[in-house]
Amino acid sequence: CGIIARIGTDDAVPSLLSGLSNLEYRGYDSAGIALLNGHGLEVLKREGEIDRLLERVSRRAPSAETGIGHTRWSTHGPPTDVNAHPHTDCTGTLAVVHNGIIENHDALRARLEAAGHGFESDTDTEVIPHLIEEHLSAGRSTEEAFHAAIDELSGSYAIAMVHEDEQAIYAARNGSPMVLGIAEDALFVASDVPAFLEFTDRVVYLEDGHAVRATSEEYTITDGDGVVHRPVRTVDWTAE
Ligand code: GLU
Repeated sequence: CGIIARIGTDDAVPSLLSGLSNLEYRGYDSAGIALLNGHGLEVLKREGEIDRLLERVSRRAPSAETGIGHTRWSTHGPPTDVNAHPHTDCTGTLAVVHNGIIENHDALRARLEAAGHGFESDTDTEVIPHLIEEHLSAGRSTEEAFHAAIDELSGSYAIAMVHEDEQAIYAARNGSPMVLGIAEDALFVASDVPAFLEFTDRVVYLEDGHAVRATSEEYTITDGDGVVHRPVRTVDWTAE
């Protein structure tokens, strides 16, 4: 039910974890993170309180310049460790977090399973990483594959994705809120401003149909027609 993603030149893990705690007010039954730690993709996720995830994280003591995090409020599949986000493709090279509901997940899942994709979870969300994987194996770039997969989804979503080949965060929204946060040394993508407000008050609000690619230095917002320019606003959250 909440997304927080961060890319920067220093360690993303502390801000991802505090971002998840800051999103607790939205309600959740599971939490997880996916990290690009320079050696590949690492996914840590747990059903239950964020404390259970923190316990798991503290045993691993990971650090990473890029990561995505999620608090889940389950709609498809019970709250379990396996159904917690992030979800990965078959090869474990990319990870996705999602808020909302993918209405056509049954048809997509049937098609992907027939094409040989093995599913691990009961979620509607898991079709997304497998769809991206399918477009990647058809020879598309990560960005093309992300957009092609998004184009096949119907329903409501805010999505964030990382792929181990690229220090970048991909995100898209349709019917679920999503906002960018611009800090001195990092960029954030989140479902709501409080997720990253302790790190920056400079935000860019996204609209339905927008997709983003963010690196530690820059971000590009696109819609179906090309690049979109959006104003950077300074939020005074206390006054709202
Ligand atoms: N529909 C997805 C699931 O059940 C995402 C739910 C959410 O927004 O947290 O896993």
